[in-house]
Amino acid sequence: MSKFQNPVIKEITEKYRRIWAIIHANNLLSWDSEIYMPERGVSERSIALAELNVLYRELILKDDFVSLVEKGKNEKDLNMWESGTIRVLDREINKMKKIPPELLFELQKTSSEAFQVWKNAKAQKKFDAFLPYLKKLVELNIQIAEKLGYQEKPYDALLDMYEEGLNTRDVKAVFDSLKPGLKNYLEKIKGGKFYGVHELEGVSYETSSMEKVNKEVLKMIEYPEERARIDVSPHPFTISMGINDVRITTRYEGYDFKRSLFSVLHEFGHATYELQIDPELDMTPIGTGVSLGIHEGQSRFWENVVSRTLAFTESVKPVLDKYLGFTSKYSPEDVYRYFAMVKPSPIRTEADEVTYNLHISLRFEIEQMLIEKELKPEDVPEVWDNMMQDLLGIKPADISEGALQDVHWAHGTFGYFPTYTLGNIVASMMMKKLSGKNKIYELVRNRAFKEIKEFLKENVHQYGSSLSPKDLLIKSFGKSYSPEDLLDYIQYKYINGIEY
Ligand code: MG
Repeated sequence: MSKFQNPVIKEITEKYRRIWAIIHANNLLSWDSEIYMPERGVSERSIALAELNVLYRELILKDDFVSLVEKGKNEKDLNMWESGTIRVLDREINKMKKIPPELLFELQKTSSEAFQVWKNAKAQKKFDAFLPYLKKLVELNIQIAEKLGYQEKPYDALLDMYEEGLNTRDVKAVFDSLKPGLKNYLEKIKGGKFYGVHELEGVSYETSSMEKVNKEVLKMIEYPEERARIDVSPHPFTISMGINDVRITTRYEGYDFKRSLFSVLHEFGHATYELQIDPELDMTPIGTGVSLGIHEGQSRFWENVVSRTLAFTESVKPVLDKYLGFTSKYSPEDVYRYFAMVKPSPIRTEADEVTYNLHISLRFEIEQMLIEKELKPEDVPEVWDNMMQDLLGIKPADISEGALQDVHWAHGTFGYFPTYTLGNIVASMMMKKLSGKNKIYELVRNRAFKEIKEFLKENVHQYGSSLSPKDLLIKSFGKSYSPEDLLDYIQYKYINGIEY
């Protein structure tokens, strides 16, 4: 029986088709901008995308569509797919109505200027050049928070934009538990076999050889060629045009091959989520992943839980030896060690599994204080460096390794960072449920990737956005975001060395 039975909801999903088509086109144009578009196409493309956004807004706020969604809210006995459809649309309409287009335009304009300024400021290591933009972007985000409304703190409104239902209190509880736990583990790992730098990090490779490795690995984990692609872009990403057209990218830096390989595995996780949504939800408001945190959980699961293991290393080792060659003088245990090395670095994107969330903790505290006006933008560099010293025992060499390292604030996004940590938590929650600690490595060792995917489909993927992130976690894992599961995972892997 079809998931959509209620006549009002059926009408909504039919009308929604046109809105979906705009999102489809928008995503394809965005993908093309990163992959094929000639350099000078950018000005026409940004106009086309801006016009499509206007059209999207017009369609979703059209009187008859809005009143249909209002009508749907009063319908009785909706199933989870139907009520999810209303929940998602109501949220989107609300957001569109509450934030005035002028404010959005101002934010877009400021952040595209800020992005250019940030790039130069970072290259020249001059925070002062970026400071006026940081001030303006914080101010605009405070205005957006006020327009959206919130229960306790303005920062709650921003968090909720990226992770439905998330508030400052949730994130604070997560880091209150993670911070001391991770700092303690880091101390214990120091001096152990996973600590430090591995010589493979400095070894160069030919892009054409690495492309073959990535292709073989994707084949092994059954990336469906007839529904998915892989291309090259400087910043790897995943984008979905619909359930049967999902695309990932990776990059080739020419050395330290794990970066390219693990980008592929990370994006594969994002793609698998979109590819395993129930086909009946395709082209409906709930036909995509529910939130950034749950999405990142899927990517981290494949990147870290499945692939950063001895079992997986043993599986890919023959492929590495065949195409890269230089790996053949290392044992699988040693290549695994290269994949899993831990070392405090000032740079978030280079961080390992143990230190990564400490980087996020720092950003969470700073941006929350900025939005609550407890910290002046001019004081960010000093606070940043002090926190870094406290969390990781290191100091950034200069501002480009400190407060100017990330693009997020220059893009005008505040409240996004915590979703990265939620992703790591969700991955560990999935692992705990799937494995009872060891079984997952048997699955990986036996290349039972189908079984792993089936588990993910059952517990997360099939639902699309029908359940809110917290409801989904409670339904499938019996609890909301659980930092304890992440700490357990780190402990088993890096402290107890179980199974490795
Ligand atoms: Mg990701």
